[in-house]
Formats: sequence, structure tokens, C-alpha cells
Amino acid sequence: MERNSLKAFKKPKLQNLIGERMIDFDKMIDNHIARDHRAKTHGRYYPSEIGSCIRKVWYSYKHPQEVKPDLAKIFELGNIMHDFVVDVLKSDKNHEVELLKSEFPLKIQGDDFLVSGRVDDLILVKESGKSWVVEVKSTKSVDYVNKASSTHLMQLQLYMHATGIHNGMMLYVDKTNLKSKIFPVEYSEEKAKEIMERFGQLHKLLTQGLLPIAEARKSNDMNWMCRFCEYNEKCEKNEL
Ligand code: SF4
Repeated sequence: MERNSLKAFKKPKLQNLIGERMIDFDKMIDNHIARDHRAKTHGRYYPSEIGSCIRKVWYSYKHPQEVKPDLAKIFELGNIMHDFVVDVLKSDKNHEVELLKSEFPLKIQGDDFLVSGRVDDLILVKESGKSWVVEVKSTKSVDYVNKASSTHLMQLQLYMHATGIHNGMMLYVDKTNLKSKIFPVEYSEEKAKEIMERFGQLHKLLTQGLLPIAEARKSNDMNWMCRFCEYNEKCEKNEL
């Protein structure tokens, strides 16, 4: 290499460094995971939402909001974590379990509405020959998870009901260190029916334009939801 060109290689011109803008990777992530905004349709409901405050779910149909980038990132982390769980379940190094299906859709017909969801995983535990419905959730710290959340349990009960597979497990995986906890869940036909009734009530209130009770405010177990609720202001004023 000639002396002059070697010099040029070692010392890039200052204006090249100043003149170029760095890439904005945060923005690139936002663009990559941005979801199309789809209005929710009355009469079509989702198992993942039904354990939330009923008034909040009602508002989400009446006043749908775009998913904010920070929330979209949390959802995406959940997807990434689930992909990892699928890899672990499918791994050649794990012989005790066979992954039968993952991310499969299901529908439950109510009287005049439809419940539509997606089951995380269906596995076969080879030793017992039993199939299990698995619902996966990522969490900030699995050390603080001492039982399955009631919201998640409602989702799992419905999936067990719809698939006819009455063994369920909640699998929590820590996003910071991949530690996990499993909670087996017993199927209850009664609970599944109560959850379908809850969908029925939501549907009726939406159809009639009636505001549900401020459920989370009235319950010690649920009032933490109000801190993260985008409808807090409307709710305080009992706005329709
Ligand atoms: S503020 Fe609380 S009670 Fe009101 S809709 Fe939101 S979660 Fe429900």
C-alpha cells in the first residue's frame, strides 16, 4: 500500500465522522414491531383480556387506542420469550417432553358472540402419557411469583375447556435470568362456564351501551390495574 493511502486509512477525515448521522436503533425497533391498528369488533372477544377489569375491557372496545411503543416492546419480549420456550420444548436434549403443537388458534362460540384465542403450547409428557395445555408468561422476577395470576388462570381454563385437554400448566419465565416456575392447574367446567358468562355480560353491556362497574377500583386484588390503565380519567368521571 502506498504511504499516502495508508495515512488516509488510519486517519479518516474528520468531516466524514461529523457529517454522518448515527442510526437510531430504538426507532428501528419501534418500526419493526409496530402493529397495524385494528378496531375491535363487538361480538368478538379474547381470552387474554377477560381477566382484566371489565370496565377497562369495555372501554377498549368503545375507545380503542393505538398500542404505544413501550407497550409494544413488552409484548414483543413476551413473543421472544415464547419462541425460546418452544426451542427448549423441541430440543433434542430434552427427551421427557414432546411438543405436539404451538401457537394454535381456537374459537368458542357463545350465544351471540365469539371468543377467539391462541394457545401457547400443547405438550406430551412421555412418562405419564398425558397431554398438557401450557400457557407461558414472562415476568420481571420469577422469585415474586408464588401463584398463578387469576387473569392468566381464566385464559388457561378456557383453553382447557375448548381443547378438551383437562391438564393445564402455567409456566412463568424470568426475563432477566431465564429462571422458571410451573403451576399445575386443575380444569373446572364450572369456572369455564363462569368465564363464558363474563364474556356474555361484557357483550350485553357493549350492545346496550351501558358502562360496567369500575371493577378494579372496587377490588383489593385488582386495584393495582388502575395505575396502568389508559382510561383512568374517563373512568373517574364515569364517562361513556
Ligand atoms: S381505572 Fe381501574 S376501574 Fe377504571 S377502567 Fe381502568 S382499571 Fe378499571
